[in-house]
Amino acid sequence: MAGIVVVFDFDKTIIDCDSDNWVVDDLGATDLFNELLPTMPWNSLMDRMMEELHSQGRTIEEIADSLKRAPLHPQIITAIKSAYSLGCDLRIVSDANLFFIETILKHHGLMDYFSEINTNPGFVDEEGKLRIFPYHDFKTASHGCDLCPPNMCKGLIIERIQSSVLKDGKKRFIYLGDGKGDYCPSLKLGDGDYVMPRKNLPLWELISSNPLLIKAEVHEWSYGEELGRVLIHLINKTQIEESTTSAAQLISADCKFQTMPLSSHDALPRTLPVPH
Ligand SMILES: [Mg+2]
Ligand SMILES: [Zn+2]
Repeated sequence: MAGIVVVFDFDKTIIDCDSDNWVVDDLGATDLFNELLPTMPWNSLMDRMMEELHSQGRTIEEIADSLKRAPLHPQIITAIKSAYSLGCDLRIVSDANLFFIETILKHHGLMDYFSEINTNPGFVDEEGKLRIFPYHDFKTASHGCDLCPPNMCKGLIIERIQSSVLKDGKKRFIYLGDGKGDYCPSLKLGDGDYVMPRKNLPLWELISSNPLLIKAEVHEWSYGEELGRVLIHLINKTQIEESTTSAAQLISADCKFQTMPLSSHDALPRTLPVPH
């Protein structure tokens, strides 16, 4: 297993549109959406829109059919499959919802490539109505991050993933995204990690406005082919670096072993500096 965790945003990263807007526009509810948007948080509005569509007689199948038509570049499908076969651990962190994401991933045969989907809960209730809830229940308590919308701080999710994978040794992260909500997790990445902002969109603009705040190496992309090319290049490059590093560690551990007192023997491999 490669020591690389690839974290994808979903809307405008895996698919080439915003799934919320796509469904609302496709099912003819754009005017109501725009009218209500100033009055409630986006995530709550999506639940309200699903209720509206249901009361207009729109079925869950119509919503699913609409999602299946959402544009997804074939090169992104190839990139996801290649990253997986190179041994990367793929995850999604998205402010869409579970029903939308699962419907689209299943339609393209991509469900099994991801070890985790972090998103807002979404499920069909007993009346056949899609309900969408916040990932973070902001009515009970705030998540405390000013950069993020009340229902989801992607930075907190990244921190949770970072600490959960730590037990298997040092992992390197590649984070791909486009939106404002992807900035907070990008700030949590460290040396040796990569962030791939989609060019000319809000994440890219935020990073460009103060590049010194980002510790990860920045690699921009614009379209599906480019996402695939950059991602696979970074995975290959990291894997070469990692194998060179572990070879160097082995050699250096071997040399040190001969001169070290036995008492510090068990601390050896973990305390060696990692050359960059
Ligand atoms: Mg996005
Ligand atoms: Zn945040």
